[in-house]
Amino acid sequence: MRLYNTMTRNKEAFVPLVDGKVSLYSCGLTVYDEPHIGNWSVYIVWDLLSRVLKDAGYDVNHVENYTDVGHLVSDEDTGEDKMVKASKREKKSAWDVAQHYINRAEDDMKLLNIMRPTHMPRATDFIQQQIDFIKGLEDRGFTYEIADEGIYFDTSKLDDYGKLARLDIEGLQSGARVDDSGKRNATDFALWKFSPKEEQRDMEWESPWGVGFPGWHIECSAMIRELLGDTIDIHTGGIDHIPVHHTNEIAQTESLTGKPFVHYWIHRNFIKIDGHKMSKSLGNIYTLETLQDKGFAPLDFRLLMLQSTYHNESNFSWENIEAAKQRRKSLQAFADLRFQLQDDGISQKELDETQESMIEALQDDLNSPEALAILSQLETKAMAQLVAHDSEFSSFIDWLDSILGLDLASSEDITLSQRDLLEKRESARREQDFKTSDDIRDELMRQGIDVRDSPYGYVWSRV
Ligand SMILES: [Zn+2]
Repeated sequence: MRLYNTMTRNKEAFVPLVDGKVSLYSCGLTVYDEPHIGNWSVYIVWDLLSRVLKDAGYDVNHVENYTDVGHLVSDEDTGEDKMVKASKREKKSAWDVAQHYINRAEDDMKLLNIMRPTHMPRATDFIQQQIDFIKGLEDRGFTYEIADEGIYFDTSKLDDYGKLARLDIEGLQSGARVDDSGKRNATDFALWKFSPKEEQRDMEWESPWGVGFPGWHIECSAMIRELLGDTIDIHTGGIDHIPVHHTNEIAQTESLTGKPFVHYWIHRNFIKIDGHKMSKSLGNIYTLETLQDKGFAPLDFRLLMLQSTYHNESNFSWENIEAAKQRRKSLQAFADLRFQLQDDGISQKELDETQESMIEALQDDLNSPEALAILSQLETKAMAQLVAHDSEFSSFIDWLDSILGLDLASSEDITLSQRDLLEKRESARREQDFKTSDDIRDELMRQGIDVRDSPYGYVWSRV
């Protein structure tokens, strides 16, 4: 298995810390608003990663958090708290807002066949671990307090701060606007924020420094340490996390443990909508519901995402998703060949070879478009020659589902009466009674069954 490591800017052979096991952490959703297809474009990739690792025989311990506190509107620890903003907008407590959007996210994950990670911890369930973490950093001299604001991490204490993003620290510091935040360095960030004196927050806790709430970055460091250990195999996130969030996770964890934090950093590129960034002002922040309202299934979107690599920007357009919908339909027709086995046709050997090449593509930095292209070749052949009886075609389709998550094996066979109609049509055709054969064909079409003839016999597929 090879993965592109953002830290080294190289595709590297994957070697786990412990033989046969993978510790994998993905920065999860901030649960303050409807999850949209931009979010899902990211989590579909981590789901694929986890499936490919499992297929390779690894025991995967996958942790993906829910951020339900401390994520401010700006990554620079300024602006409103996203949860507080949502709670005002929806006139609910921040706790209710979080629960509502966690439920929404879990419904969407099911619709997209995203396998549930091993753990999905909420930041608010790990407050004590975050406090202990900050205390550890304080004991080691990495923190300072800004009155009425909070406890901050002093990034100037580290020689290698910004190594993941290859930040130009001197340039950043000198170019920084002198503001009244009280920060010693432009890149310093909040570990613990004090609650505003005049207001009681829904989410706030006692701490050695005063009542408040954790900064955004500390939750991932604390939960990783608690659930996966000091050093982990793979950490994933959107590319927007590289310069601030992941940079700060590294700074906190490595300062506390003195050990390397992560072996492989994997980042998902952006998704654009019709070539534009998603934004409220363009009104192009689509949810799964938006897609469903226009007649598309969530799995059409999943397939669309698998059609490009995670390194490249993917583009969503209504034309693209229509093409993905048609593509999924033809994949389904291919999968439904398992109900129409023949004595002759695609052999076990061809299935094995396809599976091997697909695995090779997927293990090469998750090249799902290549894997789909390989599958396409088999599909074209199978639709023309059908599938041999002894081919164990069904287990091949089950394997496809286990790795691509497209639910191809969930379709049902046609009914006995439909099969009977197909046979009647076939004998009418043989007797050159084309009127009867066409009538039956029309009847089948009304029942959602399309039939076509091949040199090897007739093939049905669902319309
Ligand atoms: Zn994170």
